Parts: sequence; structure tokens; C-alpha cells
Amino acid sequence: MTASAPITQDVHTIPRKLPEGGKINLVGLTRARLREVLIENGTAEKQAKMRTNQIWQWIYQWGVRDFAAMTNLSKAYRAELDEKFEVAIPEVVTRQISEDGTRKYLVRIAGGHEVEVVYIPEEGRGTLCISSQVGCTLTCTFCHTGTQKLVRNLTAAEIIGQVMMARDDLDEWPEPGTRTDQDQPRLLSNIVLMGMGEPLYNFENVRDAMKIAMDPEGIQLSRRRITLSTSGVVSEMARTAEEIGCQLAISYHATTDEVRDVLVPINKRWKLGSLLEALASYPKVSNSERITFEYVMLKGVNDSDADAHRLVGQIRDYGIPAKINLIPFNEWPGSPYERSSNNRIRAFADIVHNAGYSSPIRKPRGEDIMAACGQLKSATERARKSRRQIEAEAGMGNS
Ligand code: SAH
Ligand code: SF4
Repeated sequence: MTASAPITQDVHTIPRKLPEGGKINLVGLTRARLREVLIENGTAEKQAKMRTNQIWQWIYQWGVRDFAAMTNLSKAYRAELDEKFEVAIPEVVTRQISEDGTRKYLVRIAGGHEVEVVYIPEEGRGTLCISSQVGCTLTCTFCHTGTQKLVRNLTAAEIIGQVMMARDDLDEWPEPGTRTDQDQPRLLSNIVLMGMGEPLYNFENVRDAMKIAMDPEGIQLSRRRITLSTSGVVSEMARTAEEIGCQLAISYHATTDEVRDVLVPINKRWKLGSLLEALASYPKVSNSERITFEYVMLKGVNDSDADAHRLVGQIRDYGIPAKINLIPFNEWPGSPYERSSNNRIRAFADIVHNAGYSSPIRKPRGEDIMAACGQLKSATERARKSRRQIEAEAGMGNS
């Protein structure tokens, strides 16, 4: 991995309105809740539905934060809104742009905590990788975020706020009065919940935020363009299919319980058998196409031919429509594993491919700015565990 300095780094150059004391933030409320909040604060019940729709459109279709600019509302009503409410999203602290165009943002949320958001531009599209928690309760031994304790769950406002922040930075809000042109390629066309945290341990907030992202009168991303990645919280998967309906990715990473218990310790609670069963029923409920199996390639740990054969065997036995995303391990300071060689990764991919499954090898993006998968960790929450501790947990001894 390259250690070169990022091309650009702006510090505090994107001013954001910080939440002001006492005002209610309207961002992140469901439509139903927004209506209630307006009524509770003096909007006549008869008008509440229309007002909700109008305000919703300003906030999520046109990216407007200032009530004064919401010109289809009366001046007096705008002033009233401004007294009681605010439209606040996380503040951007730094933005780094990688040599390959990947953008990594450090955003500050209430309490002074920081989370990372990564934008990955691709030909004719672009993916935003967002965070759902500060830190993580789980302790996957190959993951940088896993060395950081859970600080707190993000609110729905902070989750959808990451998307709004990126749309600001990409200058991708349509002019007020117009709609996002669905025939044109979008800079921010896909969302992946693959940043910091386990999204299914913050279910309600993730759900409410993704509902907003999918709303046809707002950001208008199809549920097919939103992928939630989980380490395997089996108990929440049926709800994810029913209540969100987005695509699912599973951090699979190992084909035996013995190895997965170490790499993805949540496996001790839900073993491979129950995980595979839950994955098999997911697409039927959510009408999603295929489950993405994420598989991080760790030298000598999970990358043998036998692993590849077992992997496709398990997917086939359970009849899961799947694609397998092979992720070359991204190193981070003190990480106890090494990346498999390119030849090994290719050999593994060939076995999967020859068994009839798509097996793309994920190209690490933004490595020079530590924006690649699993490298995210907020600077404010520095190394909580020593290398020795990490190695001990990874079953590597102290040598
Ligand atoms: N908590 C969720 C989502 C965040 S992790 C989950 O575990 O699925 C997003 C993806 O990055 C997961 O597949 C995770 O296993 C992978 N990942 C974590 N650390 C990594 C690393 N160092 N190198 C490559 N991929 C990593
Ligand atoms: Fe948490 Fe996912 Fe990292 Fe595991 S891989 S520690 S679940 S963020």
C-alpha cells in the first residue's frame, strides 16, 4: 500500500451549520413523524399534510437548509419554522481526495465524535460508503473499526446527513422546482452501508434513514442501489428484507465455524448453518436479486483452494442467489494479517467463477488516504488495543 500524501486536504473549508441549542432538527424524521412534530408545534392539522410534503421536498429534493428560501410557504410561516426548527447535518471537518478520485470525509456529529464517509467515483456512477455507528461492538480481528469500542449509534439524521453532505460536496442537488433527472447518470448513484459500525445493531435509525434516501419525493435512490453489509446479525435479517428491502451483503470471510469464530466473532452466536438459512430466505422476502458474499483474502488463513470449493458448495447447497466479492485485505497499523498474493486471489476467484458464480476482485480504492474497506477509524478514537492484544485475539500468539 502506498504511503504517499493525499493530493489535497482541506481543513475546515466546508462551513456547516452546527445544531443550535433548543431547536428541533427536522432531518431524519420519517414523514409521519415530521407531520406530528409540525402539529405539536402549532401547524394546523388540516394543513399539516401539505406542509409536510412541501418541507420534505425542500429538504430532500432540493437540499435547502434555510427556511427563508422555502418560497412556496408564507413569510410568516417560514419565520415560525425558523424559530422552532433547524435543518442540520453533520459538519465536515476534513475532506481528502485520493489520487484515484476517492473522497474521504471526516464528519463531526453531536458530542464531538467523528465518523468517516467515503465517496468512490466510477464510470457513469458513484458509490457513497456511509457509517452507522461510532466504533463497533463487534471485534472482527481483521477490521480496523473493530479495534475501536462502540461510542454510540448514529441517529437517522446523522446517517442520512452523510448522504446530504456528499450531495452538497458533489453539487448534485437539482434546481428548486425541478426533479433529479432519472435518465442522467448520477454522481452519487449508490449507497453502501459498509463504513464504520454494524448497521443491524442500529436497525431503526438505519431503516428510517434509508427510507428517506429511497423516497420518490426526495433523494430518489432505488432500493436496488442501496446495499447493507452485515457481519451476520441473523435475528434482524428478516426485518431488513421486510422493512427496508435493500440489497444485502454478508461479511462471510470463512467457510468453517472454527475460522469464522476468530475472524468474525459474532459467528459464535450465529453459526454458519443458521446464517446460511437466513441468507437463503432473504431474497424471497425482499425481492432482491443476489446476496453479495464479501470475502476478505487473508494469506494462509482463509484463502486455500479447499476454502474456495467449500464456499461455493455452501452457497449451492442452500440455493442462495449470490455473487462473491473478493476483497484483498487492506492493512492498517498493527493489523495481524497479511494480504493473500495476487496469484492466490486469482486462483481462488477462478474456482468460484468456474462454479458459476460471479467473483469480482474488489479494487482497493483510496488506499493512500486510508479510505479503503476496514481502514476506517476516527482519529479521535486512537488505538485502544495494542498490537499484542490484537494478535492474541487473532490466535496468533505473541511472537
Ligand atoms: N459491520 C458491517 C459493515 C462494515 S464493514 C460488516 O461487517 O459487514 C464493511 C466491509 O469491509 C465488511 O465486509 C468487512 O468485513 C470489510 N473489512 C473490514 N476490515 C477490512 C480490511 N482490513 N480489509 C478488507 N476488508 C475489510
Ligand atoms: Fe464491526 Fe463490521 Fe468491522 Fe466487524 S467488520 S468489527 S462488524 S465494522
